[in-house]
Order: sequence, then structure tokens, then C-alpha cells
Amino acid sequence: MGLMSGKRGVVLGVANDHSLAWYIASYLHREGAEMAFNHLPGEKMERRVRKLTDPIGAKIVLPCDLGNDDEIETFFGKVRDQYDQIDFIVHAVAFANRDALTNRFWETRREDFKQAMDISCYSLIAACQKAYHMFREGASVLTLSYLGAVKFVPGYNVMGVCKAALESTVRYLSADLGDLRRVRVNAISAGPCRTLSSAGIGGFDKILEHYPTKSPLRRNIESEEVGKAGLYLVSDLSSGVTGEIHYVDAGYNIVGW
Ligand code: NAD
Repeated sequence: MGLMSGKRGVVLGVANDHSLAWYIASYLHREGAEMAFNHLPGEKMERRVRKLTDPIGAKIVLPCDLGNDDEIETFFGKVRDQYDQIDFIVHAVAFANRDALTNRFWETRREDFKQAMDISCYSLIAACQKAYHMFREGASVLTLSYLGAVKFVPGYNVMGVCKAALESTVRYLSADLGDLRRVRVNAISAGPCRTLSSAGIGGFDKILEHYPTKSPLRRNIESEEVGKAGLYLVSDLSSGVTGEIHYVDAGYNIVGW
């Protein structure tokens, strides 16, 4: 019997085998979880995700742009048809226009700000709304943040503001969902890892170089370590833990930039 035997959930944000969502999903699968996955609309996106999810026997792999309420509704409707109840949601989704990540922060355009906040923060609230009646008691919601939420990190720009809102969202959602459904909500604040999204952050290589010079463990983290922490937070191992931001960053956050 694995830690996640008999548990079912939704994983939002697998794009390829470097995705942090995929590292978490791999640990959940190893422990016996059954999962539904989304992908961005388009055949290429679907092929990339199915290459990973077909071998683990995922029954639900569907398009869902988290900026579109109709698509979110359809996606969770299909999950409901298949599962009836769910034990977890992993939300590992973020987006900001390239300009907003490469220009100076003060130049951020209203449209770019709104889109980044919508996809990177509001989408967690939207997903919880659609899943609300499906949550089993003790279910767990997990999202992914970064230190740029609470400290200035060069180049992180509007995404830092989105992550600050996301971390606050974790606290407010945990209060409501804990009260109404006994559902837990947490975030992992991960150290830098090479992924599709991180490639878009201006000066990401500099961030990667900086961590080993300052972090207490004198290294960067491995994406695997986000996977392991994800398993802890999604499983009953963390049954008394909610509303928290959990740093998985080799201790870098205690030092700061
Ligand atoms: P990734 O590119 O693999 O994952 C980001 C995902 O967001 C992709 O699957 C992409 O398809 C999805 N996405 C973007 N716009 C979307 C939309 N409109 N609708 C639905 N999905 C959409 O990169 P990642 O680094 O694994 O990112 C996962 C999460 O981890 C993000 O929230 C990111 O900010 C966070 N994070 C990453 C790092 C890092 O260094 N890689 C560090 C800390 C936090």
C-alpha cells in the first residue's frame, strides 16, 4: 500500500518532463495516486503531456486554459464524471508576458499585469471553486511560489507581485476551505530549477549561480526535492498543516538576495 493508494486528484501545469508539476505527479503516482491532467489547448501541447501521462495510465488528459472560465468548467466537469470526489489539486501554473519579465518592473503594462495575475494567482481560486463540491474531507491543495514574493529578486518583476498575491491567497483559501470543507491549502516556495517557465525569467542563470554562494546547503535544489516535498504536502503525512508557505530552497530564504 502506497501513501496515496486509493487517492485521486488533479494536476494542473505539466508541460514537459522538466515541469515541477511532473516531479510532484511522479512521486504521487509512485505512491499509488490516480490523476487527471490538463494541458494548454493545441495538439503539440497534448502530445507532450500524453507522452508522460499515457505510461502512467492517466484516464483524464484534457485541454484547459486556466484563463478561460468555460474551459475550467468543462475540465472539472469531466473530472467529476470520472472521479466524483477528489483528494488533491496540484496547481503549478504561472504566466507573464515576456516583456513584463525582461523590461524594468516599473514599465509593466496594465494588460500584462492583469494577465499575469489572472493566470498565476486567480486560477488557483477558480480551480478551487470548480472543485469545491468534489473535495473529500481532508483533501489537500498545493501551489508553487517563489522567494520573489517576499524579497526583491532582480528580473522576477511582475511575477514577484503575483506570487505575493498567491501566497496571500493560500492563507485566505486555507481559512475558508478549512472551515467549510476541512480542506488544506499550502504552497511550496521552490528554489530555482531549470524549466520552460524559468527560462523566461530575465537573469535566471545569475539567480542559479547565486544560490550556491549564499544558501546554507551551498547548492541549488533538485526538482526531485520539490517532488518529495509535494508528496508530503499532498499526502496525509501533513494532515495538520495548512495555510503555510514551505521553502524548499536549500535554506536560501533565511539569507536572501
Ligand atoms: P513549467 O513551464 O513547466 O510549468 C508552468 C505551467 O503553467 C506549464 O505547464 C504551462 O502550460 C502552464 N500554463 C501557463 N499558462 C497557462 C494557462 N493560461 N492555462 C493553463 N496552464 C498554463 O514551469 P515550472 O517552473 O514547472 O512552473 C510551475 C510552477 O512553479 C509555476 O507556478 C512557477 O512560478 C513555480 N516555480 C518555479 C520555479 C523554477 O525555478 N522553475 C521556482 C519557484 C516556483
